[in-house]
Amino acid sequence: MPVHDIHSYSNPLESRVTHVELDLAVSFREKKLRGAATLALETAGRTLVLDTRDLNILRVNGSAAGFTLGPRDQFLGSPLTIQLPRGVRSVVVEYETSPQASGLQWLDPAQTAGKQHPFLFSQSQAIHARSWIPIQDSPGVRVTYSARINVPVPLTPLMSARIVRPGHFHLPQPVSPYLIALAVGDLQFKALSKRCGVWAEPSMLDQAAREFEDTEKMVQAAESLYGAYRWGRYDLLVLPPSFPFGGMENPCLTFATPTVIAGDKSLVSLVAHELAHSWSGNLVTNSTWRDFWLNEGFTTYIERRIQEVLYGRRRSEMEFAIESGELEGELKELKPADQKLVIDLSGRDPDDGMTMVPYVKGALLLRRLEEKHGRERFDAWIRSYFDQFAYQSISSEEFVAFLRKSFPGENVDAWLHQPGLPPDAPRIRFDFGSTPTHAWSTQEWLHWLRAQPAGLSAAQMSEMDQQWDFTRSGNSEIAAQWLLMAVRAGYRPAYGRLEQFLVEVGRRKFVKPLFEALVKTSEGRARAEAIYKKARPGYHPITQSTVDAILR
Ligand SMILES: [Zn+2]
Repeated sequence: MPVHDIHSYSNPLESRVTHVELDLAVSFREKKLRGAATLALETAGRTLVLDTRDLNILRVNGSAAGFTLGPRDQFLGSPLTIQLPRGVRSVVVEYETSPQASGLQWLDPAQTAGKQHPFLFSQSQAIHARSWIPIQDSPGVRVTYSARINVPVPLTPLMSARIVRPGHFHLPQPVSPYLIALAVGDLQFKALSKRCGVWAEPSMLDQAAREFEDTEKMVQAAESLYGAYRWGRYDLLVLPPSFPFGGMENPCLTFATPTVIAGDKSLVSLVAHELAHSWSGNLVTNSTWRDFWLNEGFTTYIERRIQEVLYGRRRSEMEFAIESGELEGELKELKPADQKLVIDLSGRDPDDGMTMVPYVKGALLLRRLEEKHGRERFDAWIRSYFDQFAYQSISSEEFVAFLRKSFPGENVDAWLHQPGLPPDAPRIRFDFGSTPTHAWSTQEWLHWLRAQPAGLSAAQMSEMDQQWDFTRSGNSEIAAQWLLMAVRAGYRPAYGRLEQFLVEVGRRKFVKPLFEALVKTSEGRARAEAIYKKARPGYHPITQSTVDAILR
């Protein structure tokens, strides 16, 4: 059942949309989608309220008395209110998007790998679907969808759905609107197994397919733990480097940053993570963004479990230990209210809740339950949780009630409603080596770099650079960490690489700390402003708003 969601104007308790049919044409020249959304209603009251943001509504068919578009709220957008005639079963909204749509990024050919064709991709989580589809944009609402997407030759459209035939899509499983996704570009496909494959620009395809060759094994590992994969195909789409996140778990088609292609599979835990969302997040979904940890905590925990099956306990514990360390660092900076798993986001953008807390504190809670009740019993419980709530959106309260059915008396209140880590939080320990070798994995390098003392001199940085060639590292994680240290140390030989990296890569995880470090000195601020002038036009709206706030 949908619940009240402070981040949606929609009224699913009165009138509920259950299927969306999109018919859209993509204009790269105007940076607009134009067409119609046909919304099928399961229950229809007197009005239907949809979420929109910056949409130009051209016409509404099926309305009794036209429509009204309310004032624009900076986070929520504008409610579209449609008067419904008695007995109506569907409404057609004709509309076009704005070139500034927060959920779409339009890339010039220069921003792609091939440099020949433009590229478009959507990022609907958390509440950006409304900027390209008039919809009840709450994770508590679930819809099936179909779509016809018209694109200029020779580009290929892809969606988070089955491809019925080129340009035609259908997703028969009901999902929350933030999981509706679209990408258009010069894209080619390479199969990895019968049900898995990679889409990428032609020049990236072979490299991507090699990096992600373990994908089918990951699906099988997840199935052996948590039951059948229910979405048909599992494909990956490699996006241009401006993609603001590591990955996005769009059903049937994970969107991924090219910055995880390291050449040695050292960063493929991202695939395990996005795949895990096929159970936690896409199958069982947080009903509002207050309970985002239900999506991300479960997923981070399952990611480690998949990784353990494929690459062994040592590697999964190492990554868990690194993340726990990152969480502890972030907890020192965050307001107490934002350290709770159940977070109060009233009056805020739900993207504000995207800290390490829902991910790693959530995963640590599940790890604690596993240790306390035993892996066998707890695995069986998680599997029953997915079966019980499949294709439903639920709250933390429903999670607790279901947990207590199997484990009476279990109390996780401190985890959900108190800041920081409770005293019973598991400590993930890993014995990192202290003498670097070329055999080290990305994670071992990261740990070693982060453990370097504060206040390194430029001379010390130079010595490390000569020995290990960090400034020229093609591994984005190592490069980002090194560049951060270079900014702090005032290590000038890395400044050229810093600018190149920030102009090319728009992944928020890398960009944000670098700009934050730069603005700490007046010289750094001047450098940040000069770099940002070049970099900003290539950034996604989400990354732009993050960096705008840092430089303001
Ligand atoms: Zn995730």
